[in-house]
Amino acid sequence: MAVTEPAPVELPPAHEGILRRQALRESAARTYARSLPIVPVRARGMTIEGADGRRYLDCLSGAGTLALGHNHPVVLEAVRKVIDSGAPLHVLDLATPVKDAFTTELFSTLPREFADNARIQFCGPAGTDAVEAAFKLVRAATGRSELLAFTGAYHGMTAGALAASGGATDVRVTRLPFPHRYRCPFGTGGERGADIAARWTEYLLDDPKSGVPEPAAMILEPVQGEGGVNPAPDSWMRRMREITRERSIALIADEVQTGVGRTGTFWAVEHSGIVPDVMVLSKAIGGSLPLAVIVYRSELDLWQPGAHAGTFRGNQLAMAAGAATLAYVRENRLAERAGTLGARMLAALQALSADHPSIGDVRGRGLMIGIELVDPEAGPPTVTAENGSAPPPDPTLATAVQQECLRRGLIVELGGRHGAVVRLLPPLTLTDEQATAVVDRLADALRAAERSPYRRAAAGPTR
Ligand code: PMP
Repeated sequence: MAVTEPAPVELPPAHEGILRRQALRESAARTYARSLPIVPVRARGMTIEGADGRRYLDCLSGAGTLALGHNHPVVLEAVRKVIDSGAPLHVLDLATPVKDAFTTELFSTLPREFADNARIQFCGPAGTDAVEAAFKLVRAATGRSELLAFTGAYHGMTAGALAASGGATDVRVTRLPFPHRYRCPFGTGGERGADIAARWTEYLLDDPKSGVPEPAAMILEPVQGEGGVNPAPDSWMRRMREITRERSIALIADEVQTGVGRTGTFWAVEHSGIVPDVMVLSKAIGGSLPLAVIVYRSELDLWQPGAHAGTFRGNQLAMAAGAATLAYVRENRLAERAGTLGARMLAALQALSADHPSIGDVRGRGLMIGIELVDPEAGPPTVTAENGSAPPPDPTLATAVQQECLRRGLIVELGGRHGAVVRLLPPLTLTDEQATAVVDRLADALRAAERSPYRRAAAGPTR
């Protein structure tokens, strides 16, 4: 019997099949994968190559993780060295030469006054786990449970694991006003808005009938990241330090996103010169692999053995990659580079806003930059900004800009309370040419998005 050859089937390109299977198999909670339908197969520095052969400039950098971009040679070499040495890759929280070298390098980058009297706790590998550890530490040290946090803050996603394990979870948070410059809730912005925000904090803490019990700690981001790139004024940071010190409240600086040179100093607290009681560190400290720690004033080290445990606290590859990254950023002064290049990009984007009323605000510090998109024709301004009105945010336009960026080979992130802030988190190693390409592609994407017909059609009421 003659065997007939089956007709050749037109197979979809590999990346389409992978994306289709992902959509079918993975959770509805998936995030970046929805807005960035690419299948990375190779990456180097700031460039990602997809399975479809397209190349992208990556301004998301693993949500701010990749200080040196993808697969930096010093990171790869550090990882290979551990693998080739035959060292165990899993060691719980035991001491190893790799961990010892990481801790030494990390402490050498921290503000001297802080590092000289600090302890480190290796946490589970995510930033959110280190945030949990910080809360446990300050609660054990102070015997208090209340926490202070700020509007627009982002500190992670864990909830419920402790409750399900029978642990204490009665964490109560009082939310305080963050000094937002553009959408200042007090309608002033600037130093005045920051002053009112600080006064409100003092008032709440000192009023015996405010309903706010004595807190264990205040947690803040020196530049809010996910909240839409909101830099805290240095004077306000110093004021928070004074307020907490005078009232014996521990100050926790969450530097998960702002750390390792990103904002123009090695750690963002250096801008204001404050010394916090606890620092929460993750993302870039693992050199692209998962690693999270808290570093804190040794007097706070009053918790019990096992107070914060976890199986994966000894990631040797991450410690080696992290130590190599920290050393490279330090030796090559990449924090300064982030400061100068970031200022240049900020100025170029601010200049762009002259021709685009849809750019409400351009803000940032170092290579942590946000462009808030607004709809100047939609309704009255919600609040008043420092330098005039702040029209309603335009998340629909922001989404369109993100898609147009992707079409032009540029990966950007969206953030902010309304999802209307285009966020740039390029690696600190980006070149001048790449910085120009980012601004050019973004400008082009914005022009295209402003013209796009679905912009108005899709626009719904914004909060
Ligand atoms: N804190 C800050 C400031 C963050 O930006 C993030 C993550 N974006 C976290 C904590 C949580 O880190 P992870 O996603 O690793 O849990």
